Amino acid sequence: MVLNPVISKLVGKLVVLASASPRRMEILRNVGLRFEVVPSRFKETLDKSQFKTPQQYAVETAKQKALEVAKRMPFQHLKIPHMVIGADTIVSVDGKILEKPVDKKDAYRMLSSLSGKEHSVYTGVALVFCHEKENEVDYQLFDFYEETKVKFADLSESMLWEYIDSGEPMDKAGGYGIQALGGMLVESVHGDFLNVVGFPLNHFCRQLDLLYNGSKLSSSDSHSTLILSQPSPDHGPGSSCKRSPPASPAHKVKINSEQGDGSRTPVNSLSNKTSPGKSAETRRAMPLNVTEQEEREPKREELQRIIQLMEGFKASKALFTASNVGLFDVLRRRPELDAAEVAQELKASVRGTERLLEACVSLGLLKSKERPSQTPVYKNTSLSKRFLLSDTPFSLRGYIQHCDKTVWPLFSHLEEAVQEGSNQHQRAFGKTSEDLFQDAVYNNQEAKLRFMGAMHSIARVTGKAVATAFDLSRFKTACDLGGCTGALAYEFTKAHPELTVTVFDLPAVVDLSEHFHPRHTDNRVSFVAGDFFKDDLPKADLYILARVLHDWSDEKVNILLNKIAEACTPGCAVLVAETILDRESPYAALQSLNMLVQTEGRERTKRQYADLLRQHGFGAVRTVQTSNFLDAFMARKV
Ligand code: SAM
Repeated sequence: MVLNPVISKLVGKLVVLASASPRRMEILRNVGLRFEVVPSRFKETLDKSQFKTPQQYAVETAKQKALEVAKRMPFQHLKIPHMVIGADTIVSVDGKILEKPVDKKDAYRMLSSLSGKEHSVYTGVALVFCHEKENEVDYQLFDFYEETKVKFADLSESMLWEYIDSGEPMDKAGGYGIQALGGMLVESVHGDFLNVVGFPLNHFCRQLDLLYNGSKLSSSDSHSTLILSQPSPDHGPGSSCKRSPPASPAHKVKINSEQGDGSRTPVNSLSNKTSPGKSAETRRAMPLNVTEQEEREPKREELQRIIQLMEGFKASKALFTASNVGLFDVLRRRPELDAAEVAQELKASVRGTERLLEACVSLGLLKSKERPSQTPVYKNTSLSKRFLLSDTPFSLRGYIQHCDKTVWPLFSHLEEAVQEGSNQHQRAFGKTSEDLFQDAVYNNQEAKLRFMGAMHSIARVTGKAVATAFDLSRFKTACDLGGCTGALAYEFTKAHPELTVTVFDLPAVVDLSEHFHPRHTDNRVSFVAGDFFKDDLPKADLYILARVLHDWSDEKVNILLNKIAEACTPGCAVLVAETILDRESPYAALQSLNMLVQTEGRERTKRQYADLLRQHGFGAVRTVQTSNFLDAFMARKV
């Protein structure tokens, strides 16, 4: 819901937050602002002694942060944002500026200087509006700051150290976070609480109101200063920008900036004045040398192929939607319903249901029976009965939900992933992922169960082919590292009656594994909780790694294979199940893009896997390309 009518003016425009602070993101998301996060690379190294007041320092830092991102985006992201928001929060006490502590000692120094006293928290905010015209980008800058006074209680030594040892002070200006444990240190607050958290939301909204609607700031707004280049009240910032004549050479990035006193900052001091190369827009405008080959009429098959590729996402989303609303389950319970009856069952509109049903028919997921002068009725095809019902042995519903709720949002940031070469959890979900699984995948119960459900369903479908790829009769014990719900382990015990399997996975996963235990099973599958990068691995004759190595960089893969090699005695073996990257079908290459948006890993070629295994003392590498989507390698410890 968009709460603020001013914020609604930004809907559909590319707004960028030049800050990775989760607190700022949360404050802005809570009011319905939609934005991308591009953390600024500006190092906070301005010389504090050059500023007359702490607030000037905070505002200048905010400006530099926002400008760095606004200037970088046309080069690196090939996108020109509408507005970039930069912010910097500092604490000031006794005329000194306190930023983030560098270590515990520094945190102690800061917090003891705040004990029993009142201090000021300033957040400087800069809004950079970008205007593109004739290959030139003009930047228009607005800034302001907000001050909040905070009084700390007298802090005892033990309280101080207890707080420091909690780890909370380390990434916070002044060494405390008022919204969490640090709130216990605070006696009183005068002013905007959110300003202390990291972003003066109220002032920001008033500023936007001024910029877009031309309304006056209230006279009490004494902290709003340095409005640099103000648009005329009748129009948004885009229309009032003072444009300079096109510079030569073309595509020059140009900064327009005015100081609060009306004087102009020399362009050179803010702009690097280099050519940004060709932006996406300018590239499109370049004249093409059209060849005869390109001019001939397209053939039908060519058109079909390209249209299939362009429109493929619609088929995926139709499948996800039909599965999510339970369409296939409804038609199992009550086959041969017409659209109105299905709509009633789904509690959905008839208009929308009709379209979805017909789309599913066109994709081979439903069949329709035409009845003379009556409306058509629908039923499941054998494909949907096998894979799309919620509780059949090969149901892929869990995996479909994962594709829809996790992979789809991540893939919508593929362009940024390609630019940056990194996963997109931050952009898609506002989650940092230093440890991908702990931070990004398992950080709430719903997401965790969804991920486990996805792994479970795909392992049920692909597991037998992996479990039966090699003769394993000489192995008595196996350990499935990252074995998740145990779905693959059960396939191994089914296929090899002498084998017992230990599933080793993170505690968060093992805790929930019983949700997925099969109804009838002997006791040959057990679970051990641990971290395969840090903890001792359970002893086994055979180590299984299914869809695990592709999650990690070569560096982490080497750590893991090294641990396995150390745990193995000669004769032990490792079995790796992954999708081999080859040129035969696009599946593996697209999976590798999937790994780019989701993880720090990638799919690898047969040669790369064999080399990795050999480097860790595993020889006699054998490969089986299964009929399923996973291929299997087995190698013996020599
Ligand atoms: N092997 C399963 C399969 O093929 O369906 C699951 C593969 S899933 C992509 C990766 C698994 O590795 C997850 O179950 C995850 O919890 C587990 N994992 C990730 N980091 C781990 C760690 N540090 N220690 C143990 N398990 C980990």
